[in-house]
Amino acid sequence: MATIYILIGLFGLCFGSFLNVCISRLPRGESIVLPRSHCPRCNHAIRWYDNIPVVSYLVLRGGCRDCHVAISPLYPSVEALTAIVLILTFYVYGFGPEFVKYGLLGMLLIVLIFTDLLDRRIPHAITIFGITIGLLFSVFIPVDDRPIGWILRHWGIFVDGVPASVAGAIAGALAGGGLFYAVGEAFYHWGGKQKEYLGFGDVMLMLMVGTFLGVPLTLMTILLGSLGGSILALVFSAINPRFRGYAWPFGTFLGVAAIYAALNGNWLLNGYLRISGMAG
Ligand SMILES: [Zn+2]
Repeated sequence: MATIYILIGLFGLCFGSFLNVCISRLPRGESIVLPRSHCPRCNHAIRWYDNIPVVSYLVLRGGCRDCHVAISPLYPSVEALTAIVLILTFYVYGFGPEFVKYGLLGMLLIVLIFTDLLDRRIPHAITIFGITIGLLFSVFIPVDDRPIGWILRHWGIFVDGVPASVAGAIAGALAGGGLFYAVGEAFYHWGGKQKEYLGFGDVMLMLMVGTFLGVPLTLMTILLGSLGGSILALVFSAINPRFRGYAWPFGTFLGVAAIYAALNGNWLLNGYLRISGMAG
């Protein structure tokens, strides 16, 4: 069993290495295939033996082999984080289609978490790919159809199986993306039309999350992401006045919240429904 975890961790490190390429190149509209990775200062191509996730960073003590310019510790962090997310996904879902689905969602979210954090960008290349894949997955892996299934049953329409799952995914996307779009528009129109408070990237991110998670966990993502972001913003501006009026990357918080919702959201949701007496 330990061997499987180690193998998945190693896979995670390698995938994380690729996610680093996506994070640094997609916001600039650069190709993620060519050219090969090179040092940002001396332009030397990174040798294959210096491109081993985390290990190379430690061996080279966080610097370029040629010009010794400091390499951001973000690179090994993304690699380690990817490994951790994949290991947790395996721990929760075991090895099967769900592992592929939620592992992929986790990796797409890691890219968006960091592009929003570093560049305030949520690339459409990732979100459009994610929305498409999320809808495809809903055909094979059941998406929570609450409350759509319940509403339809109320009208005497019984949906089950694949149609219910796909309906759940579409409803999740509309709930996530739609809510964000509505709030963004409202702020824009009634907030003096000065700037859009919620970028369209956040709308796309939530459309993607919705197709993977369905309505209940998508709403949980928005709730946890907003709450977490607000708390962090309050704490930081209390500690350091420099952070007052700082534009926090909302997509980063939503991404972290969505990873939590995908891995442990049902536990929180069921607990909440039980305590509030809404569970049957
Ligand atoms: Zn260099």
